[in-house]
Order: sequence, then C-alpha cells, then structure tokens
Amino acid sequence: MREGPGRMESTEFLVVGCGPAGGTAAREAARRGIATVVLERDPIVGAKRVCAAGLRPGFCEEFDLPRSIVHLDPSTITLTTVKRTYAFKVGPSHTTTREELDGTIGALARGEGAEIRTSTLFRGLRRDGDQVVVEYADMKEGTRKAIRARSVFLAQGSSARLDDVEPRFRHPAWADGLITCFQYRVYPERPAAERTYDTLEMHYYVSPLSGRNVIAWMFPKRDHLAIGLGIQAKVAGAALRAELDAFLVTVRQRLFAGIPYTVREEGNLLYGGLPRVTIGADNVMVGGTAAGLVDATTGEGIHEAATSGRYAAEAAATVHAGGARDAAPGYARAVRRAFYGRLRHRARLMTVLERKPVRFDILFRQLEETPRFAALLQRDRNDFTPLEWLYLYAQAAKFGLSALRA
Ligand SMILES: Cc1cc2nc3c(=O)[nH]c(=O)nc-3n(C[C@H](O)[C@H](O)[C@H](O)COP(=O)(O)OP(=O)(O)OC[C@H]3O[C@@H](n4cnc5c(N)ncnc54)[C@H](O)[C@@H]3O)c2cc1C
Repeated sequence: MREGPGRMESTEFLVVGCGPAGGTAAREAARRGIATVVLERDPIVGAKRVCAAGLRPGFCEEFDLPRSIVHLDPSTITLTTVKRTYAFKVGPSHTTTREELDGTIGALARGEGAEIRTSTLFRGLRRDGDQVVVEYADMKEGTRKAIRARSVFLAQGSSARLDDVEPRFRHPAWADGLITCFQYRVYPERPAAERTYDTLEMHYYVSPLSGRNVIAWMFPKRDHLAIGLGIQAKVAGAALRAELDAFLVTVRQRLFAGIPYTVREEGNLLYGGLPRVTIGADNVMVGGTAAGLVDATTGEGIHEAATSGRYAAEAAATVHAGGARDAAPGYARAVRRAFYGRLRHRARLMTVLERKPVRFDILFRQLEETPRFAALLQRDRNDFTPLEWLYLYAQAAKFGLSALRA
C-alpha cells in the first residue's frame, strides 16, 4: 500500500466485506504476495453474522482451516414435511459459528499480510484508467476516504446494493429473491436428546399462520441449538417472531421438552433467487451472496462464497503476474463453470416445489429410494461424468412427471 503527499492511497487488491467470500479472497491473495486491503463494515469480523453455519463435509480441509472451529460433525440430515421426516446420511458435515469461521479466516488473512480495516463502509466506486477508485466511510474517524486498486472484489453479502455501483451488475430480480430470516440461539440448561447432536434438521412447510412457504432448521452446536427460519418475502419482525415461536414449540417438544433454556435472537436477510447475470466488469468482481451464489433449496452459500473468494484471488494473481489486464473475465468464467448450472436448477426447483408443497414429498421419497441420486445432488459442483449426467436427467424426468401429476 502506498500513500504520498497529495496522492491517493493505493493497493493492488481491494476486498469489500470480510465474510467467507471476502476473507478467503484476502487470505489467498495476500498469501500470493499481493498487497491486499479489506473494508469491513462491522467493528469485529464475523461478530454480527446471522447464520446456521453448517459447513459442507471436508470444508475445513478444502480451505485449510483449523478443526478447532468445528462444534459438531452431524452424520445425518433430516428433511421434514407436514407428512413425514426423511433421513439421509451426510458427510460428516460440520457446524460452527460465524464469529469463529469469519473471525478465523480474517485472522489467517491478517497473518498472510492482508490489512483488514473494520468499521469501514463501502460507498461506491469509479474507474480511473484501468484502475478502480473505491470510496468508503471510516466510521471510527467519521471521515470519507478513497483508495485506488488494480482489482476489486465486492463481497458484501445479501445487503449488497450494486445497481448504482455498476450498471452492468444490475439484477432486477434481486429484491424478489431476498429471504427474510430469523433465528434463535437456544441454550438449553442441560443437554437435549442425544439424537439432537448428530442431526441437521431442515423443515419445509406452509405456515398455518401466514400461508407462506417456510424453510426452517435446527442445527446443533457445542453449547446451543441454532433454530431458525426463512421466508422468501419481506416479513415484519413481529410476524417472523410468531412463526419462529410456533416452530420452536415443535422442536422443543421433540428434543428438549422440560429443559429450561435461554435464547439469543438474531435476524438477517438471505438471497435465494437466480445468480446475478453479470459478476465481473473491468477489474471489478462480485462474489458470494452478493453474486447470488446461494442454494435456493437449502439456503447454503458458505462453500460457494469461499470458493468465489478463492477464484477472485487467483484472478487478481493473474493480473499481478502480468498474465491479464483485467481480472474479471477469468473470474466470472470460473464461478459460472463451478456453480451456475446447479444454482439455477436449484432456484427453479424451489419454485416448482413451493408452488405445490406436496412435491417436496415426491422429491424426498425419490431421494430416499435412490441413494445414488441423493449422493449426486449433495455434490457442490457440476463436475459429473457423462454417465452421471444421464442418470441425473433420468431422475429429473422421473421427478418432473410425478410433480406434474401432483
Ligand atoms: C439465517 C441464515 C442461515 C444460514 N445458514 C447457512 C448454513 O447453514 N450453511 C451455509 O452454507 N450457508 C448458510 N447461510 C448462507 C450464508 O450465510 C451465506 O451464503 C454466506 O454468509 C455468504 O458469505 P459472503 O462472504 O458472501 O457474505 P456475508 O457472510 O454476508 O459477509 C458479507 C460481509 O460484508 C460486510 N459488509 C456488508 N456491507 C458492507 C459495506 N457496505 N461495506 C463494508 N462491508 C460490508 C458484512 O458486514 C459482512 O461481514 C445462511 C444465511 C442465513 C441468513
């Protein structure tokens, strides 16, 4: 980073947001010797993130993270509808908390030499030749600042408002894809039923209170249970609380009836629509949830976010080494190849399922009867062999026919 009298401060790689996308990008770019600055709105990295924080099997190994952040390794995931519960073997998956995940990635990024500026709020950017000038508010000093960068990675999550930042990133469907989420961290005074700690629970139902489709979850942690829900619409706080209280009653009856508990409330937005069409333009890249990289059927996006951060660091490294003038095209290609096919299918599938919720049972029964189908769908990437594709299309056709008849 350079700053001279009368000169604007500059860096090589500027990252906005220190979630899994931004933190991973910063860590991996700094590790490659690229001068990296991160702007993070929160005063403490990860402290305010609301998330069930379930990680894909192998996540810590893939992103070289210490196992100490893992709370539990549930080996079962259950998918529950109003009719019944379907159980599947996974992983083992990991659960953690975002203060530990984001905080650890942030600390490792700092260890590699990245500078993370907390309490800084990204405001906008402008082009200056083949460089990008990023404007931000330093909330500690109460001043507005600017920094020049060769490559920029925007990873500010579901709150990203990119329409005014860069017209090419406009995504008119963004507002419709937003999911209002509310979660309780439930701290039982004694351990809950034993099976609680080996199971990730997902629930799909139509709310008897509002008639809206709800996705709810119970993810166990070392010392608490993350019990929450999301509704794909803007829902007022009181209505959301009523929905969650009703769900909590059902979880409590099954898992910790009669055990006193305390609760910490958390609310946040998530995005669950189609991925953003354009995620790279003139050395500016968009990643993680800001790019719409979330699985609409489960709300998962941490793996996609971290992977997009990795690709952004690789693209910035190519520019650093003189292999390209613009990091954006290579980055966008890599992210699309890895995720767009699956995420688009998932967003469309969720629309089909929610239109007639009985279809959830058709799908889950089919997954139960064909473990190979279930295993293929659990894969993060679309790196299937031609035979696997054929098998998947046959299963999709089977589901499509049954769903149409429903
Ligand atoms: C309730 C809930 C439960 C979830 N459960 C799971 C789960 O179990 N497993 C899973 O894989 N995914 C889950 N997700 C999705 C997951 O949280 C996201 O996919 C993931 O956080 C995306 O990471 P990210 O880095 O793109 O964005 P974020 O994690 O949202 O990080 C964005 C960062 O940018 C910062 N920021 C925002 N605006 C600015 C600004 N203007 N200037 C500077 N900094 C800014 C924020 O403070 C934040 O630190 C869940 C989401 C929700 C809401």
